[in-house]
Amino acid sequence: MPRLSEVIAALETLWPAERAESWDAVGTVVGDPDQEVSRVLFAVDPVQEIVDEAVKLGADLLVTHHPLFLRGTTTVAASTFKGRAVHTLIKNDIALHVAHTNADRADPGVSDALAGALDLRILRPLVPDTTDPEGRRGLGRICELDHPLTVRELAARAAERLPATAQGIRVAGDPDAVVRTVAVSGGSGDSLFDDVRAAGVDAFLTADLRHHPASEFMADRAHSPLALLDAAHWATEWPWCELAAAQLDEISDRHGWGLRVHVSKTVTDPWTAHAASAATHSTGAPN
Ligand SMILES: [Zn+2]
Repeated sequence: MPRLSEVIAALETLWPAERAESWDAVGTVVGDPDQEVSRVLFAVDPVQEIVDEAVKLGADLLVTHHPLFLRGTTTVAASTFKGRAVHTLIKNDIALHVAHTNADRADPGVSDALAGALDLRILRPLVPDTTDPEGRRGLGRICELDHPLTVRELAARAAERLPATAQGIRVAGDPDAVVRTVAVSGGSGDSLFDDVRAAGVDAFLTADLRHHPASEFMADRAHSPLALLDAAHWATEWPWCELAAAQLDEISDRHGWGLRVHVSKTVTDPWTAHAASAATHSTGAPN
């Protein structure tokens, strides 16, 4: 059975900490390097529900995409929800390791998993990592569809292939416009609008899009894609858990570690319900 330090070293080869953004907080949050690891759980969010799932599963290591602590903290008292998670992890000998923006920029990374879930053919990163001579790492991915789809059909595919959330997929733009190329970026993507314009793609699939950036982006008809597709943040990053679990499985096989690797299916998207508006007139004006 490998020690935690060995498993972490393997994870660091996939997602080196130095490739994370400078504001990020990645790496091992909880764990004794000498403890043995036999069972690993992957999830997007290190929330209590997921920590409890790791306990129930008998996991020795929880790997999450989102950090537990992103800013400085002065307490891990169990009276705080983050402190409660730390207490539960330590009491149950479960380590916590985070791969966040270092996993976003990896090859393969978060957006590769998102593109893979939608059966998109990946052409190149949306924002290439200038330190990668092969040009394969970076933020987001520019992709091609095997067959052109309408925006409505692409949104339906995303809704079907990504894990179900209350939000589903929101669309900006003409639902009947035809899409051949699409940029994707797991997680919040509105900081990438300039790169999407420069890429000249037909559509952009991401999450967390806000009124003003989306409205201004779509208003610039001459330079913007036909459509924006906005999915739940959690849903756009969850496919990475399956990719990452498969990568660790392969490493475990290579080393003869015999790790049992699991992916949490618990929906930790904070939005829990959605009410569709009343039908609108064909003009689009509210009733
Ligand atoms: Zn995220």
